[in-house]
Amino acid sequence: MMKECRSPNDKVSPRFPRGASDFVIRHLSLVRHSFICHSAFLLLLIPVALEAADNVSVLGSKPKWDVLEHYQETITRDEFAHLINDVYCTHGFAPDLIEVNTDTARILMNRESQSFFTLRFAKSDSSRDPVPRLWHSAKSLPSAKPDKPLSSLRIALDPGHLGGEWAKMEERWFQVGSTQPVQEGDLALKVARLLAARLRELGAKVSFVRNNNEPITPKRPDDFRELARKILIKNGVPQPRADVLDPNDPEKEQTIRWQSEILFYRYSEIRRRAALVNFKLHPDLVLCLHFNAEGWGDPNNPTLTDTNHFHLLVNGSFLQQELEYDDERFEMIRRLLSRAYDEELPLADAVATAMARETQLPPYQYPTTNSTTKVGASGYVYARNLLATRLYRCPVVYC
Ligand SMILES: [Zn+2]
Repeated sequence: MMKECRSPNDKVSPRFPRGASDFVIRHLSLVRHSFICHSAFLLLLIPVALEAADNVSVLGSKPKWDVLEHYQETITRDEFAHLINDVYCTHGFAPDLIEVNTDTARILMNRESQSFFTLRFAKSDSSRDPVPRLWHSAKSLPSAKPDKPLSSLRIALDPGHLGGEWAKMEERWFQVGSTQPVQEGDLALKVARLLAARLRELGAKVSFVRNNNEPITPKRPDDFRELARKILIKNGVPQPRADVLDPNDPEKEQTIRWQSEILFYRYSEIRRRAALVNFKLHPDLVLCLHFNAEGWGDPNNPTLTDTNHFHLLVNGSFLQQELEYDDERFEMIRRLLSRAYDEELPLADAVATAMARETQLPPYQYPTTNSTTKVGASGYVYARNLLATRLYRCPVVYC
């Protein structure tokens, strides 16, 4: 049931090239997979609703559709249709979810109550109202001095995962023999600190979404045991086991421990980071930092690989199943209307072009187009619906 949420290389341990530490410094790449499956799990995991009529994703809350009233007449029909068709709903959607008419779009708020939100389009680009938002677009920033090109730009750095004592639980950990373990969360934090100094030199105001190896969420796996049990039952495991037998347990994903841990380090943690970004940091841009790795074959006899690549993600490419959740559909529309894409796509392309020049690495090619859509001109940028790229209410470039 939940196994497909992992790509083939995903649950197995990573392979590493010979001369691993050298490789880390040169190419800043590695560790167990990472964003290969952040949201894929979501679509297979049926959440438990608080009330019968609520139709929200895991740990999500009821959407506040009234907020969208602020976006009336801020977008033309053509621009709305372009963003829906080419960026956010590239896999299609059920016909009753979104209806694009001549002057309005009708968006389903809740299927059970058959309630809809009506968005009125602007008649033309010149007559449209300004887009309300807390972040600054590149164009709206004051002109900067040549040596401080990022003056007035607020950038939040979001080192992926937790690292430290949590790295094993997160499955962002690996070790060759008795050498120091490689942990994605620690690497991402190191890179964030290096990056912060460089960005500040260029004039940016830099903040950290995480600046140590501890979770932002006050919750811990034990807080989610009951929810994990309910989710497993709802997903067809009538009597879920409490614990994982051993690391090779083929049914570990169907245990309360495994589920409660993932609810902690992924869903609860990223939702808390979103609250920090949206209500406290208020950045103009978030850079999410991650390191991927290839599978390393048989864990008892790991083999290393020289295969290497990189790519960047912006929000979009929602799956039909994801659009069925009232909160995800609402967040998609809010994000579309905020025009974060207009900022994050050129940024992602610019970052990709610079990284490609420096590293000479080829772009990663997803094995299928089931969850991603290639966007932009660089060849390295994909649209994908991850929790962080969806929930942070500002442009997000996920590296
Ligand atoms: Zn990652």
